[in-house]
Amino acid sequence: MDETVSVKYDDENILDTIFIVEENMRDTFLVFGSPLIEEEEIQEMVECLRSGWISTGPRVGTFQDMFAGYIGSRYALALNSCTAGLHLSMIAADLQPGDEVITTPMTFAATANAIIHTGAKPVFVDIEMPAMTIDPEKIEAKITEKTRAIIPVHLYGRPCNMDAITAIADKHNLLVIEDAAHAIEAEYKGRKIGTIGDITVFSFYVTKNLVTGEGGMITTNNEEYAAKVETYGLHGMSRGAWKRYSDDGFKHYQVVFPGFKYNMMDMQAALGIHQLKRIDQCLKRREEVWQRYDEAFAQLPVDLPPAPEENTKHARHLYTPLVRLEDLKADRDTIQQALHEENIGTGIHYISLHLHPYYRDAYGYQPEDFPNALHVSRRTLSLPLSASLSDQDVQDVIDSFTRTLDRYGT
Ligand SMILES: *Cc1c(COP(=O)(O)O)cnc(C)c1O
Repeated sequence: MDETVSVKYDDENILDTIFIVEENMRDTFLVFGSPLIEEEEIQEMVECLRSGWISTGPRVGTFQDMFAGYIGSRYALALNSCTAGLHLSMIAADLQPGDEVITTPMTFAATANAIIHTGAKPVFVDIEMPAMTIDPEKIEAKITEKTRAIIPVHLYGRPCNMDAITAIADKHNLLVIEDAAHAIEAEYKGRKIGTIGDITVFSFYVTKNLVTGEGGMITTNNEEYAAKVETYGLHGMSRGAWKRYSDDGFKHYQVVFPGFKYNMMDMQAALGIHQLKRIDQCLKRREEVWQRYDEAFAQLPVDLPPAPEENTKHARHLYTPLVRLEDLKADRDTIQQALHEENIGTGIHYISLHLHPYYRDAYGYQPEDFPNALHVSRRTLSLPLSASLSDQDVQDVIDSFTRTLDRYGT
């Protein structure tokens, strides 16, 4: 910077900008949650296209078998999204209009939207701190004679307190349908997530731990639920289309339920098969990044994500420090914007559902009804954590986040 420049631009904002440039801001935008797609997936996709089986076919069958093997569940049924899976689980479990389903407001909209799609009513229970997952101690107060199910969400990849949740469900004869969109690799006291509740639903959306572009999977050990998910997920037809046209001869189908169009395509499974083979390797990389962040941010005005509970495995889906507003001159959105200007893409997971217009107005919620979810909504910031990050990317995030919090510190 020569003298003429610094004299000319003496207003505070510009000086801030000069300061940033001098600190070696990265020159390309770091996209939040970008997937790691490797050559095996690309080759498999090409072969899939050449094979002619691009919709539901043999690759979906292979992917389901591999997934059931990985989770250790009796059944794994592939679908076109986790949202579809949540809807279908509740239909398969025979939820009826007017039933109530307990879940957390600190989740993605799909969890509660799917409850409404079945005609049931979502009933929110606040999260516990610092875990940020549903607070089992607050569940029983919300149970009525209409309550049929609990949907715990393994938020950010951290398993919920399943012992407490299962005990409550058993006592009140409720179903447990788990939203494991973040938690493919997670384990709870020696058991894989996906083998504990009645039904578990996973997501393979493009930012998740395993990606198929769009996609989801249901796991269950219950034969009746599995059969219903398979039938109801494809128009309510008694036989899958790919079996119908296979070389053992044409077979008629029968419509036994006005079902949905929720099937996964072989093009999606082509990605999933290879992503699943690499899943633990990718988790290892995210664990490394997580540890580097924890070490680098220990002295910053943030509450770091809590360490996993003993005897559990955290799936490390999202790294979400809470910015300590009490120690900062800026709100969370300002900090997020400052990172964006430094070419670091971040996310917000989540603004609690009870603060969104639909849920607020339809159920008359006040912000303070769920104080912990409100607290997190105002402070949470998700930093990049995918296995596609290079060491330099991680260093850039560390530098920018540290610089930004220093700048707005009190
Ligand atoms: C992503 C997500 C979903 C929905 O998954 P899709 O596969 O996109 O339908 C549901 N619940 C949670 C917690 C999620 O993060």
